[in-house]
Amino acid sequence: MEANKEEAVMASSSGRKKVIVVGSGNAALCAGIAALEKGAEVLIVEKADEQEAGGNSRYTAGAMRFVYNANEELEPLLLKPADERIARTEFGQYTREKFQEDLLNFNDGRPLSLHQHILIDNSYDTLWWLSEHNIKFEPIYSRQTFEKDGKYIFWGGLTLEAKGEGVGLIAAELEEFLRLGGSIRYETSGKDLIVEQGKVIGLRCETPDGLAELTADAVILGCGGFEANPVLRQKYMGEQWVQAKVRGTRHNMGRGIEMALEIGAQMHGLLDGCHATPMDLNMPNYGNLEIPFIERKHYRKICYFLGVMLNARGERFEDEGVNFRNYTYAQFGRSLLKQPQGFAWQIFDQKVEHLLYSEYRFWDASFVEADTLEELVEKLDGVDAQQALRSLRAYNEAVDTETPFDPTVLDGKRTHGLQPDKTNWANTLDTPPFKAYPVTCGITFTYAGLKVDEQAAVLAESDEPIPGLYACGELVGGVFYNGYPGGSGLTSGAVFGRLAGYSAAQ
Ligand SMILES: Cc1cc2nc3c(=O)[nH]c(=O)nc-3n(C[C@H](O)[C@H](O)[C@H](O)COP(=O)(O)OP(=O)(O)OC[C@H]3O[C@@H](n4cnc5c(N)ncnc54)[C@H](O)[C@@H]3O)c2cc1C
Repeated sequence: MEANKEEAVMASSSGRKKVIVVGSGNAALCAGIAALEKGAEVLIVEKADEQEAGGNSRYTAGAMRFVYNANEELEPLLLKPADERIARTEFGQYTREKFQEDLLNFNDGRPLSLHQHILIDNSYDTLWWLSEHNIKFEPIYSRQTFEKDGKYIFWGGLTLEAKGEGVGLIAAELEEFLRLGGSIRYETSGKDLIVEQGKVIGLRCETPDGLAELTADAVILGCGGFEANPVLRQKYMGEQWVQAKVRGTRHNMGRGIEMALEIGAQMHGLLDGCHATPMDLNMPNYGNLEIPFIERKHYRKICYFLGVMLNARGERFEDEGVNFRNYTYAQFGRSLLKQPQGFAWQIFDQKVEHLLYSEYRFWDASFVEADTLEELVEKLDGVDAQQALRSLRAYNEAVDTETPFDPTVLDGKRTHGLQPDKTNWANTLDTPPFKAYPVTCGITFTYAGLKVDEQAAVLAESDEPIPGLYACGELVGGVFYNGYPGGSGLTSGAVFGRLAGYSAAQ
């Protein structure tokens, strides 16, 4: 099909650099704002319509992880620095060393990558830069503090979130982008890069009016990973990933990565690396922004550490208590997919009912209930009931009943002699009613992607930058390997987005 000629030139000839940004999530909007700040003319092209634009970024809680050393460093970032609670708040510190340690914990022995160093070293500056651009933050009092002696004490290094969560973050970034003179076209899907004499000079797009060719001095890819594309999941991650549910947007099909690979870019990072968590087996196949944030969260089912999990063969397959759930929930999604038919049942008794997170009591939660284990196993759809009963009885007999149960520490209350053992929080399943929840894997986002340098320029197989091409956000590979500390995805998008915008505008 011939390209629409009216669309052939992106902007009027003003002598300013012309930059096209592909995508309208957090990374792309940060890239757009940065390029505008440096005087470029910027057009964002977004595949989704206005309702669904903003990508996975809109599905988040808007929390961002960054290095800070004192309360005073947070004040310029705050929406309401005069909030009376601030004086009674101990934000603690989140040092560079701590951020490094947190990332290293997920690196499976790899040293910190260049991209992880860039993320950490630019994290505070980038938050400060966002606040200068009218994106302000609020302390996460509800989920990240405890109160002691009239003070709010932050415990985890994750302290601030954008007002209005992910939806509010994207709305504020978009407002700033438009205020600075940027333009955006929805329902315009980046298809191919246009290359002339080795330099990227534009983008071929699909629009409601047909194909269009947009020319520019530089193109920034900020259009997400390939988590929503079963074909690419199969190609890069393996057969079983075809059936994963997608927790966020259905639009991140990996086209940004593919179009860059087609002109010689280098794939980078752990190919099958991704964030994936146990989710309600009956959740929809894709995320849906029409459901309020709190309800969307309720499909997640991550209290397996309080009970046991059985697969279709009726067998346990993981040490459910190997560590605190913060360190396992993003990996256990993968483990579920490896089971026959890719599902499992989480089983609890009445003793721990009060400890289950609220999502287990959500009106929409899928579960079955029975007064005996014999009755319960008959209700587990798709499971070998006889083997399930044998597994539950063997588990009960193997529990160390002497050690007290304490969910606030790694209590060492464990089983002995099972394959696998449960090494913490192993309570016998003996108090009815028993409840079982069916779960499967929900993929959050993929970790592999394009290789970029310190300027966020996309690198060819030769490790040389491809002139005119930059990348940011989820589609940059090598930032995360086997997990990530919460809030780092958004920060990574902002850090690499800002870098890409500055570089493209130069
Ligand atoms: C349910 C959920 C919860 C999360 N919670 C957190 C959290 O609390 N903290 C955190 O840090 N991270 C979280 N993440 C991860 C976080 O969302 C991502 O790391 C981050 O938002 C990715 O930003 P991005 O801008 O790279 O991509 P996205 O925000 O996904 O934006 C990509 C955009 O590109 C568009 N697009 C795709 N293909 C094309 C194309 N061919 N042409 C044009 N446009 C295209 C998409 O429509 C989309 O708008 C969560 C993710 C999910 C799904």
